[in-house]
Amino acid sequence: MFNWILKKILGSKNQRELKKLWPHVRHINEIEAEYQKLGDEQLQAKTAEFKKRIADGEPLDGILPEAFATVKNACRRMVGKEWSVRGHPYKWDMIPFDVQLLGGIVLHKGRIAEMATGEGKTLVATLPLYLNALSGKNVHLVTVNDYLAARDSEWMGEIYKFLGLTVGCIQHDQIPPVRRQQYACDITYGTNAEFGFDYLRDNGMATSAETQVQRGHFYAIVDEVDSILIDEARTPLIISGPSTVTTQAFDRYKPQVAELVRAQTMLCNRVVTQAKQLLDGRNGETETGKQLDREDEAGRLLYQTKLGMPKNKQLLKLMEEPEVRKLIDSAELGLLADSSKKELLELKEQLFFTIDEKQHDADLTEKGRKFLNPNDPDAFVIPDLVTALQDLDALGLAEGEKEQRREQIQQAFDERSERIHNIAQLLRAFCLYEKDVEYVVQDNKVIIVDEFTGRLMPGRRWSDGLHQAVEAKEGVAVERETQTLATITIQNYFRLYEKLAGMTGTAETEAAEFENIYKLQVLVVPTNKPCVRADANDVVYKTRREKYNAIIKEIEERHRKGQPLLVGTVSVDASEVLSRMLKRTSIPHNVLNAKYHQQEAEIVARAGQRSAVTIATNMAGRGTDIKLGPGVPDVGGLHVIGSERHEARRIDRQLRGRCARQGDPGSSRFYVSLEDDLMRLFASGRIGSIMEKLGMKEGEQLEHKWLNRSIETAQRRVEEHNFSIRKRTLEFDDVMNKQREVVYGFRNDIINGDNPREAIFDIIEEVVEARVAEFCTEGKLPEEWDLNALLKWVNFAFPIRLSREDLEHKSANEIRQLILDKVRRAYEAKAAHEQLDALKAIERLIVLNALDRLWQEHLYNMDQLRNGISLRAYAQRDPLIEYKAEAFTMFEEMMSNVKGEIAANVFRSASSLAAFENFLRNLPTAFSGPDLDAGAAFSGTKTPPQGSGGSDVVDEAIKDVGTPVRRDTPKVGRNEPCPCGSGKKYKNCCGKNA
Ligand code: ADP
Ligand code: MG
Repeated sequence: MFNWILKKILGSKNQRELKKLWPHVRHINEIEAEYQKLGDEQLQAKTAEFKKRIADGEPLDGILPEAFATVKNACRRMVGKEWSVRGHPYKWDMIPFDVQLLGGIVLHKGRIAEMATGEGKTLVATLPLYLNALSGKNVHLVTVNDYLAARDSEWMGEIYKFLGLTVGCIQHDQIPPVRRQQYACDITYGTNAEFGFDYLRDNGMATSAETQVQRGHFYAIVDEVDSILIDEARTPLIISGPSTVTTQAFDRYKPQVAELVRAQTMLCNRVVTQAKQLLDGRNGETETGKQLDREDEAGRLLYQTKLGMPKNKQLLKLMEEPEVRKLIDSAELGLLADSSKKELLELKEQLFFTIDEKQHDADLTEKGRKFLNPNDPDAFVIPDLVTALQDLDALGLAEGEKEQRREQIQQAFDERSERIHNIAQLLRAFCLYEKDVEYVVQDNKVIIVDEFTGRLMPGRRWSDGLHQAVEAKEGVAVERETQTLATITIQNYFRLYEKLAGMTGTAETEAAEFENIYKLQVLVVPTNKPCVRADANDVVYKTRREKYNAIIKEIEERHRKGQPLLVGTVSVDASEVLSRMLKRTSIPHNVLNAKYHQQEAEIVARAGQRSAVTIATNMAGRGTDIKLGPGVPDVGGLHVIGSERHEARRIDRQLRGRCARQGDPGSSRFYVSLEDDLMRLFASGRIGSIMEKLGMKEGEQLEHKWLNRSIETAQRRVEEHNFSIRKRTLEFDDVMNKQREVVYGFRNDIINGDNPREAIFDIIEEVVEARVAEFCTEGKLPEEWDLNALLKWVNFAFPIRLSREDLEHKSANEIRQLILDKVRRAYEAKAAHEQLDALKAIERLIVLNALDRLWQEHLYNMDQLRNGISLRAYAQRDPLIEYKAEAFTMFEEMMSNVKGEIAANVFRSASSLAAFENFLRNLPTAFSGPDLDAGAAFSGTKTPPQGSGGSDVVDEAIKDVGTPVRRDTPKVGRNEPCPCGSGKKYKNCCGKNA
């Protein structure tokens, strides 16, 4: 009821919004009617005219009606024109419908246009893309795969070209210069991953403006926006490299955990058998009371099994009975009540460990700990850190000793936490992750199967050690932990755009998330022709087997009539089962698993032909239009069968939307069984009782609108749960995001700024000021200042040879000034021996090297922090708050280290050894003392070797520093004078070995 009211209100808000937009559509059409009188060149001249008006300050909104009319008119002129799209001949036949103009306005306004499948969203996007590209800034269209990016840019490209704009397309295998060309176009098509990775490479890795490929983030339209901003948003984009750290812990614990799991399996089998005996024997009891006791006891035992081994085969079999599920539910409810805490604990303690399937958690019991380590079960108990630290405080130890003890406690805590974490991950791997469902093993590798699309995701890894745990379980090589080199979440990538818009057939159910996370409003655009699809009620079966049989029966019946069928599955596994069953009936069919986008698009495009049967996981062929073949409308159009309800209603709507496009006939029906995961985990109790009310017997099917509703309630609950997980991930990433903004901003200033030296001197100033403040402590008398320490640092970092007398009888401020002046003069002396451009390149490198090295180290530490932080919950602390605080401290430390390193390296780098030696020769007072020698200085080594710089040291140093320095030094012709200033030709001097 409440929902119905809500819908009414929302619905009418949608109406109101649309009502405001219709007059614009009429206006566009009026203008377009006028344009029909123009010659081709006159229409084409509009582009230049609009660009000029925009450059003169006219807002894009003001140009919208004319720009949209121009695109529409261009489409009209192109009708009948032929070209090839992805290798297939194509003939243009589209002029935007009014609802498409409407959709275009919604997109221009930076919103999400919900437009059903087949409404022509590809064409809709061209309107706002053209308009926004007139600004001269690069606009992006984001697709779900490379094939669609290429298809759509070729398909729509002719409109842009006709109007004098350029279009580019990013593909996975392109090299940076090619990418740069694509971004240089007015409009660029590509996938979210390519756009995101290019951003990371540009901002986190490129070392010069010339190697950056993107031209900013002005406007993007995301096609299939729900798939990208919601489904894909669950895993961040990561560029990684092998890490220096390895984890052998999983291999070490695996045999023990395998034993433990075996023991638990045996235990659970016993328990479940006992429960079954109780149930079987209950009818022998004459007293009702005793019967009930037996049932209660059985319920408890089954619940215990569920705690210990949720996927126990016998248990799952018994749970097919709604009555049994009710027993378990009521046992659970009873045990979760406060009054039975002790009982629940006893139940758990009889097990070796407990598994929470919904939360994907595993927990060792005392019994399990003893099993793993009979001599020291405490090895698997998280120590109470808070109490331990309090106890330590109470001891009243001296500060130094206390600090030491504190570290010991912390270390023991960390070690133990890690061990427990590893064991828990192994338990999850053994008990919750099934081979060929959650993952497959191929070529000695564990490859994740995407739960949404059923496709394999090579290269992606579960985080937090889970992947290694599964690898250990399967006995394949446990891969080295990889280290993040650069990372961003999809959410934060898309937040970079000044204006973001999206389109999809299914956004409404996720409107709250779009609004909340991306500030995107959803507007539902009406279809061009009324939709006449007939959606049947779900049919519910007790078992999967019965369900599949019914599906095959329906396929056979409809196939006989010649009606085409599209069968959607939620996993590769299910699509293969159905395919095997269909083979027995010898009905020809196609199976698609979202692996080969182009091929699949071509197969799906034919799914509307007479008698075609297509089985597809829900992402396969998405974005491809299914047109009906001749005669098909007469047999009811395309019929869609859902073989399982998905976790998210959206995905089900998406599947239904594959048929009945543009007013075609079509129908859909979902099949559900109580063994489906969704039902098992989230809907069993409610459905069970409805089924009982409706009176369901063995082998029967049920169909009732109550069932639809409670299934949807279950879906809604899962959706909310998943949303909260994504939100949580994002809260964590927000911390990183701010840091990334600072670092990338800094990098870009250095790369793009014309005066890196100024930035360096700002840093030196900061560092010097901090050091002076450190040693010449405010509030202390000048006699107490640690001038020697200051001197040691200054003379180590800079070739300025200060003496104690220089510093005495001066204020802190004067000391600071003196050091800075001297450093500045020394630097000028150094600069005199360098070519200006070469020096700039060096200066940039000094900053980038320090920043990149320490930032990557920081990313590694942040990974570690993030992985370990959930353990803090054991110590009753909020992981997010802890994470934020520690991340902040770590970041501050990192930035201060970066600055320190930059200051220290300023005088230790040169474009060539000769320039460096020249500089040394001309600085009589510097760099000849015991603190520094040429070799070490040149290499930028932090702790220079003692003694004179032997030639091997120098050679080492060149090897050390050679590559990075050469990398960005401007190219010098072999016959040009050497930039080191030696006066010799480059090939005879520093370029000798180049
Ligand atoms: P969507 O992405 O909304 O599912 P597509 O962009 O794939 O839809 O287009 C679906 C089909 O509709 C395509 O075959 C396209 O040629 C056709 N189409 C789109 N707009 C028009 C139009 N204005 N006139 C005629 N056909 C159109
Ligand atoms: Mg599309």
